[in-house]
Amino acid sequence: MEFSFMYKEGGAHPDEQKGFTDSKPIVEASVPKIMVYPIAMHIGAPADPIVEVGDQVKVGQMVAKEGGFVSAHVYSSVSGEVVAIEKRPQAGGGEVDSVIVKNDYAYTRAEPIVKPGHSSEMTNKKIIDTIRKAGIVGMGGATFPAAVKLAPPEEAKIDTIILNGAECEPYSTSDHRVMFEYTDEVIKGIDIVSQLYPDLKNIYIGIEDNKKDVKKALEKATADNKKVTVQTLKAMYPQGSEKNLIKSLTGREVQPGELPADVHVILLNVSSARAVYHACELGEPLLERVISVSGTPIRNPQNLKVRIGTPIESVIDDCEGFSEIPGKVLSGGPMMGRAVGDLSVPISKGMTAVSVLTRQEAQIDEPEDCIMCAECLHVCPVSLQPILISEAFERGDIEKAEKLGAMDCIECGNCSFICPSKIPLLDNIRGAKAAIQAKQEG
Ligand code: SF4
Ligand code: SF4
Repeated sequence: MEFSFMYKEGGAHPDEQKGFTDSKPIVEASVPKIMVYPIAMHIGAPADPIVEVGDQVKVGQMVAKEGGFVSAHVYSSVSGEVVAIEKRPQAGGGEVDSVIVKNDYAYTRAEPIVKPGHSSEMTNKKIIDTIRKAGIVGMGGATFPAAVKLAPPEEAKIDTIILNGAECEPYSTSDHRVMFEYTDEVIKGIDIVSQLYPDLKNIYIGIEDNKKDVKKALEKATADNKKVTVQTLKAMYPQGSEKNLIKSLTGREVQPGELPADVHVILLNVSSARAVYHACELGEPLLERVISVSGTPIRNPQNLKVRIGTPIESVIDDCEGFSEIPGKVLSGGPMMGRAVGDLSVPISKGMTAVSVLTRQEAQIDEPEDCIMCAECLHVCPVSLQPILISEAFERGDIEKAEKLGAMDCIECGNCSFICPSKIPLLDNIRGAKAAIQAKQEG
């Protein structure tokens, strides 16, 4: 099969579905009796549990230590007793070792990870060490450990920081509300990160043009910093993907196999920036995040500030439960999210939303033959040929899938969304990526 078209259309336009929650203030979520802390909430090596069944733990006490350079510590977000260390279901299927803590509701706090109030005096090493100590990862869904990402080699000469506020996934409004309600904390987080780069010239805050309230709040909070530009971008999907955002804001292109640092750019999600502030200035490890719980079957959709480790069923109860039998519950949004088969799956560090689809919305059409319309090529933001990778995977030709650049897929879901033949392109490409990774790991 031959295709001669490449991506040039500027993304897809799935129904935004933001109206359920975009004007709803963040509300503190309930804290249930049993909390679940998976040891692998990040990209890289799983953390190693350092507590035993029967141990008493405090709020902010480490329960699993990073398992390598690319890894992240895991902390208890409540005080109480470790009642089990066992496999528990995770979003997207399968199980992962998890530390289970029975909440004593005393909220006894552990010592801060650094002395609060001294972030402006920190050396670069101290900032990175503190971010590592806090267990911060990319909280927009990427979950790459932030301490690794924020410390590229010196020769990268970072001159630009991009704060990624382009929340393009349907239903999700958590970043919107974080930027609007915790503006100062987000900006202080960026101020701390900007201390790391002596060559820094520009800080771009990229937000979509449908967030006028946020633009105003950010401009007010950054009026004294001449390096900052609050830049509005056309609302489209996937505007928030790293390569798109860098191209839109700086004109620089990250080539396949390159990282943003190769074009002198560091990107940070807004919730990660806030977490940096909490770690370096307040001495708090990553214990909470804001999520949107949304969709037609949710009786009272909301933005909730949730302690990490809270099972999804608890946040759904906070939203008054289901008004109808749901078709699908997703960790994340409908484009990139993963189906959740068990509502005991906990809210993890990178989970931006719990999106619930009706039975009709979740209906999967029977795939038909490819009609070679090339729409999947047009909408791929990283210029892949999704159908060819998908077909290679179906044939079991993993080498071909690799040669076609499957590992460059950012899993945005555009190709599956647009395909008139309803071919499960993203599922197949995810399968190809898993097979390539397994092959590489021997
Ligand atoms: S899911 Fe991957 S292959 Fe499909 S459009 Fe997005 S980046 Fe391209
Ligand atoms: S969008 Fe679907 S039908 Fe069109 S070329 Fe791609 S896989 Fe084939």
